[in-house]
Amino acid sequence: MDLFNLLDTYDYGGVHFGRDAASGMCCIVAIHDTRLGPAIGGCRFLPYDSERDAVIDALRLARGMTYKGALAGLPHGGGKTVIIRPNRMFDRAAIFRSFGRFIDGLGGRYFTAEDSGTGVEDMEVIRSVTKQVVGTDGGSGDPSPFTALGVRRGIEACVKLKLNRASIEDVHVAVQGVGHVGYHLCRELHAQGASLSVADVDPLKAERAEREFGATVIPIEKIFDVECDVLAPCALGSALNDDTIPRLQASIIAGAANNQLAEPRHGDDLNARGILYAPDYAINAGGLINVALELQDYSVEKATNLTMNVYDTIFEIAERSLASMTPTYRIADVLVEEKLAAVSQNG
Ligand code: NAD
Repeated sequence: MDLFNLLDTYDYGGVHFGRDAASGMCCIVAIHDTRLGPAIGGCRFLPYDSERDAVIDALRLARGMTYKGALAGLPHGGGKTVIIRPNRMFDRAAIFRSFGRFIDGLGGRYFTAEDSGTGVEDMEVIRSVTKQVVGTDGGSGDPSPFTALGVRRGIEACVKLKLNRASIEDVHVAVQGVGHVGYHLCRELHAQGASLSVADVDPLKAERAEREFGATVIPIEKIFDVECDVLAPCALGSALNDDTIPRLQASIIAGAANNQLAEPRHGDDLNARGILYAPDYAINAGGLINVALELQDYSVEKATNLTMNVYDTIFEIAERSLASMTPTYRIADVLVEEKLAAVSQNG
């Protein structure tokens, strides 16, 4: 594997490989950057077609965590773990215990949390052998309401700047995906008087939003064509692509999903169409803010207050973008790189 080239591509840091033959645990712990503080990032437990795919997944995701944490003003760098799910019988607790011992030996440089394929129970197993874990039972709890609060604040900032409206009352928001975050986002938006259109592959979830928030249910393939003020992608990645961008009727894109741009050039396409895009890792930081506070003195009030600041972050990015005619995704990257460079100079 061309490992060091991969590390150059993603501008790394370090990667740790852990192996425990007895339990079958194979993990890749990618620590992208620790200039702002110890890295935080979730732990995936999934099958992969190849070890290379698993490494790339960890590298890509950890880098994103650095950017998300830095922009949110957190004293943390970015990391991510992939534990390759064995394709034979395994003892789940033994794997997570072994992984916990492994990260315990990394000198406090990395805190793990749940991610795709892992849950609170796995975090409890990890906690039985190390303190390097957040998001356990009795910790900060479900991050989704905080992510949704941050997205609502980001939408308010975009609406102020792009539509020159002081509130989101009567603003029409189309939400793609009303799962954990999308549901709470609808609740937030409805409480502020916004009108809603929603689409979800799970009709029960869409119907719940219709029932509780008066949302109009849209067929999933039509959500990008809805005439609305704001589109909020809250489902899977790559929602903004060659097919969907030409169809958009919204002048603002602001949602929770990670990796919304299929490729960076799609951020240029949105900019060229005059659509204000709130960069995903800037607007969806509420959940990370909430979990990171576990390492300080956690309170719901603190997590709420810090998440409210997503408004200022998005406003600054959008303002700089409009002033310099530069796409928002590039402005966000530059803001992070400035922060990291400032720490390097002082360090
Ligand atoms: P979730 O799985 O609970 O919700 C996703 C919803 O999207 C589901 O209801 C699913 O049925 C629906 N969906 C899937 N494909 C769809 C499609 N093509 N059209 C319409 N609906 C579709 O996940 P979540 O925790 O709500 O996260 C949503 C997104 O936000 C993900 O991209 C996630 O990575 C990101 N995110 C979540 C958090 C968090 O706190 N949970 C934090 C940051 C980012």
